Amino acid sequence: MRKIESISVFDMLKIGVGPSSSHTLGPWRAALRWIDKLKAKNKFDSITDITVELYGSLSLTGKGHATDIAVLLGLEGLDPQRFPIEDIPKVIERIETTKKIQLNSETEIDFDSKSAIVFNKKFKEFHPNGITFRAKLNTGKRTSETYYSIGGGFVVQEERLRSKAKQEKLKEFPFPVQSGKELLAFCNTENLKISEVVMANEQSLASEEEIDFKLKQIWEVMLDSMYTGCHTEGTLPGGLNVRRRAFDTHKTLIGDRQYTTPEEWITAIRSTEVKFRQILKWVSCFALAVNEVNASLGRVVTAPTNGSAGVIPAVMMYYMVIENHDANFNDVKQFMLVAGEIGSLFKKGATISAAMGGCQAEIGVSSAMAAGALTELMGGTPEQVLMASEIAMEHHLGLTCDPIGGLVQIPCIERNAMGAIKAINACEMALDTDSRNAKVPLDKVIETMWQTAKDMNSKYKETSEGGLAVNVALSDC
Ligand code: SF4
Repeated sequence: MRKIESISVFDMLKIGVGPSSSHTLGPWRAALRWIDKLKAKNKFDSITDITVELYGSLSLTGKGHATDIAVLLGLEGLDPQRFPIEDIPKVIERIETTKKIQLNSETEIDFDSKSAIVFNKKFKEFHPNGITFRAKLNTGKRTSETYYSIGGGFVVQEERLRSKAKQEKLKEFPFPVQSGKELLAFCNTENLKISEVVMANEQSLASEEEIDFKLKQIWEVMLDSMYTGCHTEGTLPGGLNVRRRAFDTHKTLIGDRQYTTPEEWITAIRSTEVKFRQILKWVSCFALAVNEVNASLGRVVTAPTNGSAGVIPAVMMYYMVIENHDANFNDVKQFMLVAGEIGSLFKKGATISAAMGGCQAEIGVSSAMAAGALTELMGGTPEQVLMASEIAMEHHLGLTCDPIGGLVQIPCIERNAMGAIKAINACEMALDTDSRNAKVPLDKVIETMWQTAKDMNSKYKETSEGGLAVNVALSDC
């Protein structure tokens, strides 16, 4: 199966709010999009009443993934990239106590979130993450729209219409890539690295300065989420009583080194002694830190989803503090361009939605993205880059999604550490292998992942109806 789409690196790496890209960021953006549509149709000012219905997986794990909160923030017109996360509880409390919502921060209407947000366990046919917004207008008419949150914060209405628009955009890319094979062909005929092919495509959408600006913002948020997670103690919200672990591990590793900013922190880490065990601990610590921030509704970069947001920063940071102490923004840029491209290959050929494919679509894809990106930084050929991504995914095939209590905590947080370590190992194996001896091309593993996704029992696709979610009760935690 090949979907004809062109996807930018900035579609794959997006600044957002935790804990979930499909269940938090997606519904948030869907609400924003609906408000925009009502405005465009001159219906916004006539709204008197709103209801929101969450279907399927959004309903089953929506509470744990803060879907209801995200919908409220979207209806208020708040920006998931910039809205101060510390103000979220205040907004929610205001809506709940006044029973009123400020639509797009402009018009106040009555809104009782307890009854106006309906959790409907029924699955819509098009996609497991359906959301319908309904409004009554003062003319007596009603209007409604259904959106689907298809993973990684992507929101669609009519897949066919969207594909058509994307196809047109694809023509603008100097190197339109739909598969690993095509990507390698461009690299070989043009004698370019993967990051250079991707950069040329990105430059057909924005100037180099704009691209650099956005990539710097993305890295800043990634670094910040690692820094915050490593310096925050306590227990995560949600009732599982999960203790934050990055704090303790970090404290032992960093010792008494002094620093006051994330940049100074990088220098301090570079001065620590690292043997194999410390490397394992540092990489795990970075990944745990990001996903602890994510689990506490903090700001992270969706990469390619929120549940898997820790893998890519942890592997990039590994390169910076362990492999190359001179690493700078140019390395970050190269890394993110390759990571984004690998992620988009999975999105085009399979899925990055756990509701469609289980955790192989989240942690598996993020690990493949990081493995390929690291391999290019380490001097690997384009063939070795794809081989590393293939190896990383091959050993995540079949991974199910079964978060306890519907919260993005267990097994999610630890899985990021495992995904990051696997990515580094996959990179090293690819660097030591003659790519002509590779038996499994990346495209084959993408196809296999998609078939596995379709065969996977729906209990294991972000419903919390199977696996750890049913064997470990909230009361056990
Ligand atoms: S188990 Fe994996 S796919 Fe499911 S919510 Fe957790 S990280 Fe995401």
